[in-house]
Amino acid sequence: MFRSSNEAPLPLDFDSESILIICPHCCGKFEETISRLKYEPRLSCHYCEKYIDVNLLELHGALESVRKSTHDLLKKLLSTDK
Ligand SMILES: [Zn+2]
Repeated sequence: MFRSSNEAPLPLDFDSESILIICPHCCGKFEETISRLKYEPRLSCHYCEKYIDVNLLELHGALESVRKSTHDLLKKLLSTDK
């Protein structure tokens, strides 16, 4: 049996997550993984094939808010007093 050795030990690794990209040229929507955006912040639209520059600062800001809400969610899930 062959198993991948680079399995993420924590569920809070967003690199393999996909986020929704909305093309500013044609408003086409498609998903791209976060790791791909980190290494290649410039991507071409799946529909009109024009280039989209991803604002990495905004991406990191979005990830930070996801992290925060995930943290809040975990706190809610782990709290026993309902
Ligand atoms: Zn497009």
